[in-house]
Amino acid sequence: MNAITEVLRLPRAEMLINGRWQKAESGEAIAVEDPANGQQISEIAAGGKADVDRAVAAARGAFEGPSWSRMRPIDRSRLLENIARTIEDHAQELALIESHDNGKAVAHAMMIDVPAAVDVFRYMSGWCTKLTGKTLPVSGDGRAYHAYTRLEPIGVVGAIVPWNYPLSMAAWKLAMALAAGCTVVIKPSELTSLSTLRLVELMHDAGLPDGVVNIVTGYGHVAGQAMAEHEGIDKIAFTGSTATGKKIAIAALGNMKRVSLELGGKSPSIICADADLAQAIPGAALACFFNSGQICFAATRLYVHRSVYEPVVAGLAQVAESFKVGNGRDPQTMIGPLVSKAQQERVLGFIEAGKAEGAKLITGGQAAGDEGYFVKPTIFGDTRPDMTIVRDEIFGPVLSVSAFDDMDDVVRQANSSVYGLAANIWTRDLRIAHTTAAKLHAGSVWINCHGVVDPAMPFGGFKQSGWGREVSEEGVSLYTETKSVCAALEDAHFG
Ligand code: NAD
Repeated sequence: MNAITEVLRLPRAEMLINGRWQKAESGEAIAVEDPANGQQISEIAAGGKADVDRAVAAARGAFEGPSWSRMRPIDRSRLLENIARTIEDHAQELALIESHDNGKAVAHAMMIDVPAAVDVFRYMSGWCTKLTGKTLPVSGDGRAYHAYTRLEPIGVVGAIVPWNYPLSMAAWKLAMALAAGCTVVIKPSELTSLSTLRLVELMHDAGLPDGVVNIVTGYGHVAGQAMAEHEGIDKIAFTGSTATGKKIAIAALGNMKRVSLELGGKSPSIICADADLAQAIPGAALACFFNSGQICFAATRLYVHRSVYEPVVAGLAQVAESFKVGNGRDPQTMIGPLVSKAQQERVLGFIEAGKAEGAKLITGGQAAGDEGYFVKPTIFGDTRPDMTIVRDEIFGPVLSVSAFDDMDDVVRQANSSVYGLAANIWTRDLRIAHTTAAKLHAGSVWINCHGVVDPAMPFGGFKQSGWGREVSEEGVSLYTETKSVCAALEDAHFG
């Protein structure tokens, strides 16, 4: 096993349940590999139903126990701030874990993943003291009433997160749940559990009481499915593929648990004739290729006004070819490996489909490197709406480009997807920017930028990109139940 395990003090096939490191009841483990070279770097516990049962019991006990339910909101706020500071203090270590486990560049993890985790805990620390109900003007039968709503924590939350942004996706869900006063069982992806294991350990170091956050590692169809079905879980908060989201929604029906889903996407970029191409070309390239295209809101369908199509495609190719593809520990790396061999094979399969269906290969189109799971940034031109690469979420560095003639046409094409997570538009015309933003079927629309994600902005999808919104006031409120309370202030006159 690689020495990185010792350097990073990575856990050995254990899960943190009720504040205690423990093995899976089955005793089984899953090997963890570094996607930059395919070498095994660690192993995680293969948690199953019995482990989920233990974790849910711990979370229920903590939810009902005095140390969490009676914690003053201002003290919960301070705890979340302490967690933010502890993550900041361990930024380099967490970024290095993320790079070894997921493949991404350490520099990108330092710039995006770790700050996103810090920011969401800091932002949500403010909501601990600000989640309030309302007083209500009840008319009733003419008697005076005092009516109001209370926002109460939903209870035990099951959080299930994917492998593309393991640390920040875990942090989003944990920060929202804790701000609302819930307790949590979290299951990271079996491909990338290491940073979440360390995060949960650091949260305990920052003062989190035992049992409030419990981590179960393991396969989705085993541990994840057991969580989705569990009668002791009150809400599932899921980020992952649309196919898995549908399975979770069905499994959650048993006890009608609340479900929020952040799912897949096939987001469009639109470059108008009047766009500032010096901004739009690198902007559209990064919107697709950042994190090797493994981003739910990656803008993988690019529509360019016919009058600027040729210079945009030439510029995009130049930008894509300038990206250094390599090991995430190299500070020059822009494009790291895909997360696994299976993902590399899947993406290369889409590239072959693009070639076979007649798309024009502009650049890339193949694997890179002698070891590890790298794919060159790939651009296809002259794509048609019926092509597989234009319809399906690829989750790799593959961009489809086509020309458009007018705004009605491009809005229709942009909206012709089962997904509706995000979109961007590049134009200098403010009226076109805002009227188009209103017409796009997407949960986030970025104008002359892409991928600006902030805890203050609701994030989530239209159509098959999800249910509900994450972060922001809207996100945290999905971890609460609303209770109406009505008190009579005058006697009733019976009979
Ligand atoms: P995935 O759906 O395969 O897995 C996500 C998580 O669900 C993992 O922890 C996995 O173990 C678990 N899981 C798998 N099967 C399960 C089941 N039957 N029951 C319960 N849990 C199960 O997704 P992935 O491959 O890890 O991530 C890529 C996908 O996630 C892409 O489709 C991407 O668009 C999406 N994603 C969406 C967002 C968003 O915010 N909308 C963010 C990141 C990723």
